Amino acid sequence: MKRKKSYEPRCPAVACGASEACLYRVRAEQVKMPADILARKDEGEVIYHCNYCKLVWFQPSGARPGLGARPQGYYDDLRVCPERFLPLSKPVAIWPESRK
Ligand SMILES: [Zn+2]
Repeated sequence: MKRKKSYEPRCPAVACGASEACLYRVRAEQVKMPADILARKDEGEVIYHCNYCKLVWFQPSGARPGLGARPQGYYDDLRVCPERFLPLSKPVAIWPESRK
């Protein structure tokens, strides 16, 4: 019998899935988030950054890292946006378990 495993924090991006050690809560200034993107953040949400795939997302402040994630863009991807915030050009596939 397969038991339902409890949620293990990981990067919400299906293409990444990095472990909790790669996930950091950040402030908008740290990821140079543009004001128009920041304006989409709900009051009860915080900003997280994956240090592996560079994804930036919003999620509820009380949730474990990666849970209830709403991807917004990338920050400091050395190939495409070194030290810059890059808004998403297309939706990011996230794990079903990472959704609310
Ligand atoms: Zn990632």
